[in-house]
Amino acid sequence: MDFQPDPGLDAFREEVRAFLRERFPADLPGNPVGSVRSAREDLLRWQRILNEQGWGAPYWPKEHGGTGWTVLQRLVFDEECVAAGAPTQDFLGQKLLAPVVNAFGTPEQKTEHIPRILNGERLWCQGFSEPGSGSDLASLRTRAALDGDHYVVNGQKIWTSYAHEADWIFLLVRTDTEGKKQAGITFLLVDMKTPGITVRPIRSIDDCHHLNETFFDNVRVPVSNRIGAEGDGWKITKFLLNNEHAGAADVPFLRRCLGKLKHIALSEQVDGAPLIEEQGFALRLARLEAEIDAMAMLAKRVAAMEQDHSPAAHAMGSMLKVRGTELQQRITECMVEALGDYGAVAYPEPHDRTRGVALPREDVGRGVATEMFFRRASTIYGGTSEVQRGIIAKMLFQL
Ligand SMILES: Cc1cc2nc3c(=O)[nH]c(=O)nc-3n(C[C@H](O)[C@H](O)[C@H](O)COP(=O)(O)OP(=O)(O)OC[C@H]3O[C@@H](n4cnc5c(N)ncnc54)[C@H](O)[C@@H]3O)c2cc1C
Repeated sequence: MDFQPDPGLDAFREEVRAFLRERFPADLPGNPVGSVRSAREDLLRWQRILNEQGWGAPYWPKEHGGTGWTVLQRLVFDEECVAAGAPTQDFLGQKLLAPVVNAFGTPEQKTEHIPRILNGERLWCQGFSEPGSGSDLASLRTRAALDGDHYVVNGQKIWTSYAHEADWIFLLVRTDTEGKKQAGITFLLVDMKTPGITVRPIRSIDDCHHLNETFFDNVRVPVSNRIGAEGDGWKITKFLLNNEHAGAADVPFLRRCLGKLKHIALSEQVDGAPLIEEQGFALRLARLEAEIDAMAMLAKRVAAMEQDHSPAAHAMGSMLKVRGTELQQRITECMVEALGDYGAVAYPEPHDRTRGVALPREDVGRGVATEMFFRRASTIYGGTSEVQRGIIAKMLFQL
């Protein structure tokens, strides 16, 4: 991979910035802190604006209706959107499901789902984890029994992010209980409006509602909604999870936090002087900045290896996930500490406020504690750090 400055890429960055200045509406709330996905209506509106520009699918090749951008262009686009505070896209549909449908789906499934992800008509959630089946995903028990041209699904999923806002779910089910447990798993696409699905909220430590329990009680799913053959679910999941690791470090988010941390360091006072003049803090900030720069380089290397399915490439994705999420936790903790007494306050979003009175240090404090609490989960979702370390040991050192 070539890391030399690229004038073409600088011009592209300017093009993205100009687009964001012109087309990011002032009345469209940006992505709130403490959330990996924007609220449904904001996200769908932004998706339509992106699609009008021809940028609806920044990560897909041209032949699938995407922009066909290079890896570096995609990273620039992500960086600029996060820096501008633009709403997110539906990463579950865009980054996880669409590549699966394009690689394993039938022509009918592609026609049904891909355009609707692109034009922001359909939001997705991921139904993999179950109580007792998270890291050991292959032990999942949600059962799908064949009944004519339908599967009848019974069981429970947990930690289903955004199930309460999703139109469809991609689901792993057990279709065979004999033999190797991986061989009995099947991948289904299910309309969330199908009778028998119940979604119950789980409120997390950040006091937000992203997570849910999702129950399936005799849910009838047409066989035509199966991706691949019966029993292909594990192969498809391995393909999907590889894409999940690639963006796990969330470098644009780290950069946005760094900017905010510098702002706090300049505006907070300690013993009559700005916090940034405190030597210990300045050193900590410098170290974080150097580590984020190193992480950005690692993210580029991993992104450039996307077609490389070697054990080393796989291990690099896991390294990115472990180190990137640890950095997310450290920088958000540092932001809370830098705010001193006010760091512990969970400032509500403006629409949650009843009295309209400005809260102390709301200008810099909003969302910081929420973000710190939310990122506690980053070393769990998408595969825990312990499991990632196991992958690195196995792939690189054959342990
Ligand atoms: C915020 C959040 C969002 C999520 N969103 C979704 C979603 O949208 N859809 C979905 O399907 N799931 C989702 N998950 C679930 C997530 O994938 C699981 O929580 C994760 O895989 C861990 O599984 P578990 O919670 O069952 O923990 P367990 O697997 O029970 O792990 C418990 C502990 O044991 C350790 N451990 C387990 N196995 C090993 C091993 N082999 N070697 C070493 N240590 C091990 C783990 O590291 C962990 O510390 C989400 C989770 C969170 C926190």
